[in-house]
Amino acid sequence: MAKYVYDFTEGNKDLKDLLGGKGANLAEMTNLGLPVPPGFTITSEACRHYLAEGAVPDGLEREVAEHLTAMEKRMGKTLGQADDPLLVSVRSGAKFSMPGMMETVLNIGLNDESVHGLAKQAGGNDRFAWDSYRRLIQMFGKTVLDIDGELFEHALESLKGDRQDTDLGAAELQGLVETFKGIVRDETGKDFPADPREQMRLAVMAVFDSWNAPRAILYRRQERIPADLGTAVNIVAMVFGNVGNDSGTGVAFTRDPGSGQQGIYGDYLQNAQGEDVVAGIRNTIPLQELERLDKSSYDELLRIMETLENHYRDLCDIEFTIERGKLWMLQTRVGKRTAAAAFCIATQLVDQGLITLDEAVTRVTGDQLAQLMFPRFDSGTEKKKIAKGMNASPGAAVGKVVFSSARAVELAGQGEDVILVRRETNPDDLSGMIAARGILTSRGGKTSHAAVVARGMGKTCVCGAEELEVSIGERRFTAPGDIVVNEGDLISIDGTTGEVFLGEVPVVDSAVVEYFEGREPDDDLVRAVDRIMRRADEVRRLGVRANADTPDDAARARRFGGEGIGLCRTEHMFLGERRQLVEDLVLASGEEERQAALDALEPLQKADFVGIFQAMEGQPVTVRLIDPPLHEFLPDLTDLSVKVATGDGNDKDRKLLGAVKRLHEQNPMLGLRGVRLGLVIPGLFAMQVRAIAQAAKEVPGAKPEIMIPLVSAVQELEAVREEAAGILADLGVEALIGTMIETPRAALTAGQVAEAAQFFSFGTNDLTQMTWGFSRDDVEAAFFSRYLELGMFGVSPFETLDRDGVGRLVTIAVEEGRAARPDLKLGICGEHGGDPDSVHFCHQAGLDYVSCSPFRIPVARLEAGRAAFAECDSDTR
Ligand code: ADP
Ligand code: MG
Ligand code: MG
Repeated sequence: MAKYVYDFTEGNKDLKDLLGGKGANLAEMTNLGLPVPPGFTITSEACRHYLAEGAVPDGLEREVAEHLTAMEKRMGKTLGQADDPLLVSVRSGAKFSMPGMMETVLNIGLNDESVHGLAKQAGGNDRFAWDSYRRLIQMFGKTVLDIDGELFEHALESLKGDRQDTDLGAAELQGLVETFKGIVRDETGKDFPADPREQMRLAVMAVFDSWNAPRAILYRRQERIPADLGTAVNIVAMVFGNVGNDSGTGVAFTRDPGSGQQGIYGDYLQNAQGEDVVAGIRNTIPLQELERLDKSSYDELLRIMETLENHYRDLCDIEFTIERGKLWMLQTRVGKRTAAAAFCIATQLVDQGLITLDEAVTRVTGDQLAQLMFPRFDSGTEKKKIAKGMNASPGAAVGKVVFSSARAVELAGQGEDVILVRRETNPDDLSGMIAARGILTSRGGKTSHAAVVARGMGKTCVCGAEELEVSIGERRFTAPGDIVVNEGDLISIDGTTGEVFLGEVPVVDSAVVEYFEGREPDDDLVRAVDRIMRRADEVRRLGVRANADTPDDAARARRFGGEGIGLCRTEHMFLGERRQLVEDLVLASGEEERQAALDALEPLQKADFVGIFQAMEGQPVTVRLIDPPLHEFLPDLTDLSVKVATGDGNDKDRKLLGAVKRLHEQNPMLGLRGVRLGLVIPGLFAMQVRAIAQAAKEVPGAKPEIMIPLVSAVQELEAVREEAAGILADLGVEALIGTMIETPRAALTAGQVAEAAQFFSFGTNDLTQMTWGFSRDDVEAAFFSRYLELGMFGVSPFETLDRDGVGRLVTIAVEEGRAARPDLKLGICGEHGGDPDSVHFCHQAGLDYVSCSPFRIPVARLEAGRAAFAECDSDTR
């Protein structure tokens, strides 16, 4: 038979799934012999049953009654007994901590009779008893009976006037209880329930229900906590911090959650109960001052904190109460901390001999490392916030507003910091994005062009700030409240929060980036990062490469620890002034004209490759032959049409217009691109291969790998491979020839494809797009937020690789590819290559390397190291 209730003596810290974090840790502390009031936990399984069926499971009430009776026996009093009452708290507590999101009710068991018994217990302390009673009605009314909490607050406030709550006397508090009971009657049409067991029963259900309170739902979505876990409920014998000045309640950390430094961090409030200490009703005192008030409790607390740290081998946070000089522990958990503290604490614990360096690697996350790599705004200064968009690419950027790429490049050239503001960006804005300190758009989601490109460059970006009206023509934007920002005005954008500020907010640099750039570690944080990164590099099996298209990116990739380039895109080599040549290629009317256009491109491409090979100094460079449809390089259809219609166009414009119309595609992502271009346009791929080979000849030690995109069938690959292999042989250059696996068919026929490929690189952006049938640019903005709300997926499959679908295709391709060619090299070069969970997947799938943007390399190195510890999850929430 199912067991739904566990006494604190029956549980332990590893039962969080069942008992929730609070219950599991209360049990753990009980078993450590720490002073925890008696209690028991109703499992989250019971909650799930209740939420699904609308009723508690059979047998629960009986089990609860049995545990309550046992507790009563032990305490020598019964719940709510008139002359000597046992009181309890009914507390929520889910697997993952959701601070303040769900409900707790204290002082259950009080009514008009037992309030006198409570006073007697406390040596005739009427004030204390009535204070506890009014708290019960207030909390119960709000959380169980759903009464607006303001009503109680108002009644209390008007009674207090300018006084503190501790100044209220017994008679006043008794009057307040009457007022509160009146509020309950008015609001619910019923009397406050006097029966203690009924109070408890109702409170348990209210805690179950609080799992689905709107704020709890919102919090879960943000923190990516699954919606179906439910909460456990803890019934705990009450101890009282509100008996008088020899009592009180407090919270503490075993070390500083901001910096990780050891010491005594906490707050204490005399003569108070529960939430008072964090609710800010009176001024708390620093925990150190407790030593003066109650030395023996203070010393005991410090001993317990040490015990807990040594036991959990981590920073703990705790809640405690002192009742007339006796210390009680009410909660502990491994505490949340900042990214910086996480690294410092992990290595401190190694030095203390509490954990191994390997464990330290698992205690920090790639997300935390990423946070440490972005510059930040100084938190101490005042800011004027004018809008909030999506936090597309973290960091802090300050600069003068510009509205065009050209202006961005111009001002940046004069040494100015600029923020590029656009409605949305497109590939032509690239130069401006590179020149700018940050990018702000009023449209588009986290995977819009601006966001993706900015993240790739490690550049701060806020996108989709819809409150802003951007007028490119007038060179200004407006924000709510009639704020007008003109070109040249200063703004500050926070890519970590999505906030936009007027004027200049001071920025502080990231020491961690300086370290990756080569500076010797010179503070505790950087030393901690250094130790953990070194160990991660030692243990990881996955190689880490970079997606880099320019010598600058390539050089940064090497400094950041990249071991080669996994994706060098060649399309940017067709932009700018070279568009002209692409136009010539498209308009070429015969073999001769086409070859002339290609011949003109070849030396330019060769020079590009020379630069990259040089920067990589003998590390492998995977060059992807041209991938996007050619019409992406041609002028815009509307612009051209207008130009031609108004008679401004010349002969070439008219021809181009024809070409643009001819090349127009309904579905460019599924159209004439990738290997298809190579097969349809004679000489195009051959030109690129020749440029690569010539460049390789010029740079000693260069290791090119030629990658064919968008292959679906081995026949496609065969055709272009043969031509490429011929060129390489003619020029006497050695290079691997491989393919991307980015269509489902390529994955499903990987055994055949591998016959013609020396390596596979999974292009998981396209593979996700085609596996789900999502047109990425359309769906993300249109309905992904709705999909997330509906729980269709917990996270966008473009952000984190979808293991069940896309991952399955990868696994099939890995197995069948390797079966056909045992030395097949395997990598991934989609954006997923820098995503922590996806890196873990790649490790498990047996890939040889991941490739990601240069700025994500340290993250991928760390996560690859963490993945090597099989038991380690990609997050440590
Ligand atoms: P939360 O999860 O929001 O922190 P808790 O269940 O921890 O809620 O309870 C809220 C407050 O009440 C905490 O300060 C806690 O220490 C206090 N509290 C809970 N149970 C008891 C009890 N049995 N005796 C005294 N104080 C309690
Ligand atoms: Mg708590
Ligand atoms: Mg692709």
